[in-house]
Amino acid sequence: MPKYPLPTRIVIIRNILIFISIAFVTTSVSALEQVTLQLNWRHQFEYAGYYAALHKGFYKEAGLAAILKEGAPNISAIDEVTQGRADFGVSSSGLVKSYLEGKPVLMLAPIFQHSPAALLSLGKHLNTPAEVAKAGTIGLQPGDESLDIKTMFVNEGIPLSKLKINTEGKGLEDLLSGKTIAMNTYLSNEPFFLKKRGLTFSVIKPAHYGMDFYSDILFTHQAVAQKRPEVVAAFRSATLKGWEYALSHQDEMIGLILAQYNTQEKSREHLVFEAKALTDLIGSDMIQLGHSNPWRWRHIAEIYSQFGVIKSDFNLDGFFYNPSPPPADLTWLYRLLAAALLAVSFITAIAIYVHRINVRLKIAKKVAVQTLAEQRQFIAMVSHEFRTPLSVIDATAQSMEMACPPGASVTHDFITPRQEKIRRAVRRLLSLLDNVLTNERMDFPETEFKRTAVDLRDIASETAQTWHHLLSTPNQLQLELVDEPVIALVDHTMMVLVLSNLLDNALKYSPSGSPITLRVRKSNNHASIEVEDCGTGIPTEAINKIFNKFYRAGDAQSVPGAGLGLYLAQIITHRQGGQIDVVSEAGKGACFRVRLPLAK
Ligand code: ADP
Repeated sequence: MPKYPLPTRIVIIRNILIFISIAFVTTSVSALEQVTLQLNWRHQFEYAGYYAALHKGFYKEAGLAAILKEGAPNISAIDEVTQGRADFGVSSSGLVKSYLEGKPVLMLAPIFQHSPAALLSLGKHLNTPAEVAKAGTIGLQPGDESLDIKTMFVNEGIPLSKLKINTEGKGLEDLLSGKTIAMNTYLSNEPFFLKKRGLTFSVIKPAHYGMDFYSDILFTHQAVAQKRPEVVAAFRSATLKGWEYALSHQDEMIGLILAQYNTQEKSREHLVFEAKALTDLIGSDMIQLGHSNPWRWRHIAEIYSQFGVIKSDFNLDGFFYNPSPPPADLTWLYRLLAAALLAVSFITAIAIYVHRINVRLKIAKKVAVQTLAEQRQFIAMVSHEFRTPLSVIDATAQSMEMACPPGASVTHDFITPRQEKIRRAVRRLLSLLDNVLTNERMDFPETEFKRTAVDLRDIASETAQTWHHLLSTPNQLQLELVDEPVIALVDHTMMVLVLSNLLDNALKYSPSGSPITLRVRKSNNHASIEVEDCGTGIPTEAINKIFNKFYRAGDAQSVPGAGLGLYLAQIITHRQGGQIDVVSEAGKGACFRVRLPLAK
């Protein structure tokens, strides 16, 4: 561990402690996700479910620190949410209009299945839209707020132009003073005051005329749902849990509102009235809390379009929140898997195919090697079997002369040329056998050369000796050997084979008796053996090919041969570190030279 001076250590420890405390504080704060809810009116029983979720700890249990912001006449919950000042909001059915106007809102749950909006008139005589329309001025909210009430008249065949509407009046005050004969009301509010005063009144509900709007819709910003989907899901379900609690503990909630949320200074009695009216509208005794029917939303949107508030070709697809989103579309994954499976199958098929071919090749190779071995064995056997009778023929031919007594009718002149012919033929056959066998051996690179330090002059003399009896005249072959030893590291048998082939060719491709020279020389660190003749020579176009296996120049076809001699001579020379070349011209003889490194 590195050693630090004391003051440095103190600073390090202090920094660690600060870091730990910051981390601790951060962790405890960030344990709860902060969210803000914008209500659309002042505190009252209308928001009891949110108070319950907050005070009964449902938001906290969901990991949320919720802040409830009270509404006011100049505050639009939709603006607050879409402009990022709140995460969630409560709105009327006008939410769908905002969505279709392009505002990024997402409907999470309608809390009220039916709207509390209704048409209120004093007395008991105005019970239908037609009666109200005939009776006098109606006090309505400005803009499209009272759309469900207006639609009710239109649906009853009463054009809005025939109605006397006052949108700037004072609500209940105007109704009581007779300035208006009807007004839009909240069932949970104005009827309470009329009842309190002992006044009779009539209520016309738009729902009875097909205008059944949702109300108090919980919503959020599209971006919030996208970026924090788990927060949205948690807030929605904690809110619904709060509403369940509030509806089944109404007294407790009224007590809570009176104690902490009574900004409107409502009486307990009023709150009880409100609670009862709203419970009917929430309708949770029959319908699941927060249930939303897309067709009802569509109907609401159609009413907006009917009044020209929105276009008729609307699309509500992105308006609805899906609490349990469908399983992710895994088609691409399945496709990928299928493709991978296909690829694997394809590769496996190829691998199996290649494996089978390999197996077959191995078997074929084994058979080929075996066949080759048998072939080699056969050639070796045939060569051996040929060699013995050939030697017998040669020896017999040689002894024929001796067996010919003087004065016999068969004279030397008769026997000698025939004897030489037989011996030359035998020599060629033996030479061919040697070449065939050596060729077999050369096909195997592992064939070892038994190299020993040999005086090349000895090899030259020995080979010349072998061919001596095949010469047309005794002096046909001239041996030119240097006086000093020419020692090279060579395989004796192989070198004899090389020189035999060169001598044989010199004889074959020269006229009978034409001179042949066999030279052994020494220069610097090289030895050279030359076989020169004055025969047919080699045509220029054939010079580069004569060392190829089985090559025979066109003019050589009449001479016996297999095209192996020079090929083997070159291979043997190369394997012993030497070179072989030729100088020749057609009709002017040929001179073959084998150069080998001298032994050190
Ligand atoms: P082979 O003599 O059996 O045909 P070689 O490999 O020994 O095969 O020779 C290849 C060819 O080279 C011969 O067919 C011949 O055309 C040519 N050749 C070899 N040596 C001579 C030579 N001394 N003179 C003329 N041509 C030769």
